[in-house]
Amino acid sequence: MTILGIDLGTTNSAMAYVKNGQPEIIVNARGERTTPSVFQRNVSGELVVGSVAKNQYASLPEQTVLEVKRKMGNAEAIHIGESSYLPEEISAHFLKYLKQSAEDFLGEKVTEAVITVPAYFSDAQRKATKIAGEIAGLKVERILNEPTAAAIAYGYEHQGDEKNIVVYDLGGGTFDVSVVRLDGAQIEVKASAGDNHLGGMDFDRLLVDWLAEQFADQYEVPLFSFGEEVEITQRHARVKLEAENVKKTLSSAQTATFHLPFLAVYEGQPISLDYTITRDEFDDLIGSSIRMTLAHTDKVIVDAGLSVSQIDDVILIGGATRIPLVQQLVEHKFQKTAKKDINPDEAVALGAAVQGEMNNEAFTDETSLMVIDVCPYTLGTDILRVVKGKRESGHFDILIHRNEPLPAVAKKIYHTVNDNQETIDIGVYQGDDEDERVRDDLKITDEPIIVDGIPKNVAGAEKVEIAFHYDVNGLIQIEATILSTGRKITQALDVQRGIMSNRQVKEAKLTLFEDWEKSKLATEMKATIRRAKKIRRHAEPQQAIQIDEAIQHLERVIQEGEAELVKEKEERLLDLLMEIIE
Ligand code: AMP
Repeated sequence: MTILGIDLGTTNSAMAYVKNGQPEIIVNARGERTTPSVFQRNVSGELVVGSVAKNQYASLPEQTVLEVKRKMGNAEAIHIGESSYLPEEISAHFLKYLKQSAEDFLGEKVTEAVITVPAYFSDAQRKATKIAGEIAGLKVERILNEPTAAAIAYGYEHQGDEKNIVVYDLGGGTFDVSVVRLDGAQIEVKASAGDNHLGGMDFDRLLVDWLAEQFADQYEVPLFSFGEEVEITQRHARVKLEAENVKKTLSSAQTATFHLPFLAVYEGQPISLDYTITRDEFDDLIGSSIRMTLAHTDKVIVDAGLSVSQIDDVILIGGATRIPLVQQLVEHKFQKTAKKDINPDEAVALGAAVQGEMNNEAFTDETSLMVIDVCPYTLGTDILRVVKGKRESGHFDILIHRNEPLPAVAKKIYHTVNDNQETIDIGVYQGDDEDERVRDDLKITDEPIIVDGIPKNVAGAEKVEIAFHYDVNGLIQIEATILSTGRKITQALDVQRGIMSNRQVKEAKLTLFEDWEKSKLATEMKATIRRAKKIRRHAEPQQAIQIDEAIQHLERVIQEGEAELVKEKEERLLDLLMEIIE
């Protein structure tokens, strides 16, 4: 049974499997090694994923969803026409597409996967990713950190090496950096850090802003301020796509031109844009972001207890590491050339595939690879402290320190602070080792976990043991025990933060299946509808009305997903067309 390794990226996704002991990329249905993470649902209910959806983005921006990974873990609905989706449902569509492509490629059913996430993803983001897999019909064997996956791919190729490596991963939407020790067959992550809101798409945005400034200087009107709303959305989509092209061009050329013919009509005049930007200007735009990544890099090296000179190899992962300034600054920091024998777009998926096989005996006979990962951030709870004789809430009490090896378990005992106190609220927070106070924006649970049923007693007499379990997937489970009664309260954090329940996942799985069935019908009927519309153009007015009606009937039954009715309505439409032609 093949276990898919899936790199579910912000801008691109990739998948791999292990064949005869070697990880290999699986191409998608179009033969591509990576698939743009772009989803489209057009008016006829057809679902489109990947480069076709990306190519149509500028003309169908309102029916297209991109960069959904940035929204994972927040329960904000995404609307396409009348339909509304949670981020994990859109991700499930990507995964479904990848799963289908893999099944076609391998000629067998695929039901299990290892899916990667940025090391710095929170509990809610990881949980949402796992749920996306389940909605797509995949049992998620493991949620694996992206830089760790890349280190596995590298370590697998360099078995026996004893080295300290840095994996610098700058993708479309996120940045991660890890220090990893390769020691024979052991791959041990020593420290990880990152930023979930820093990546190539932010550089595209800076380029869009740059272009908008040039435009405003020349035309004295903001570029995205005039015209119909739909025109503005389309204009924005075109500029955004062109910005990405310009950024990529600047990786190999000193200048690049935004070429946008007939981008807008202003005061009755069509406007075409041709603005050239130099690589130096681009470097100025992105400089502060890149410096931020280097600050994170310094931090992980210190956290790993190493110095820059002790780093043997530097591995660049993620498409945005093709930017020359990134390479220059990273190489300058380490005073060495980054390793070029690893494909920045594919390493993560390859490593995920290797991880997937790690429990497979046949595979482990060949290699005794062992991977140790860490918790990327500090976890704790908020407590009351007495400061200068006064009670103050909101102090951060750490249970798990960042970079502790996984799985990690930490326990602490807290006591009641009031007489007859019957409940204790546990807030769960992410933070940093240095933080003294909890930060509201880093709260992991919207509502605290309530430990109730504490027997009435004098202040301080009743004790509650709180245990944090942080598993190898980076998911947290909290357990509280009232010591005097032995009552236990176990709470996975799922019910918090609007994460989907099992029942919702089941429903979403069914809806996804139906959506793809309808999409298939819509695709099958496309040619017939196109033909009908063509004949309609030359038909008599009465016949045109009949054709319109027949098309509408057909489209309605497609939306309802009734395959037999669709066939029936299609035949009726075809009969009508025959009559008209005769
Ligand atoms: P990933 O998520 O690793 O696939 O990275 C995708 C990001 O890398 C996107 O923002 C791409 O625009 C960016 N990217 C891909 N190729 C290049 C290139 N040649 N130069 C600059 N950025 C690139």
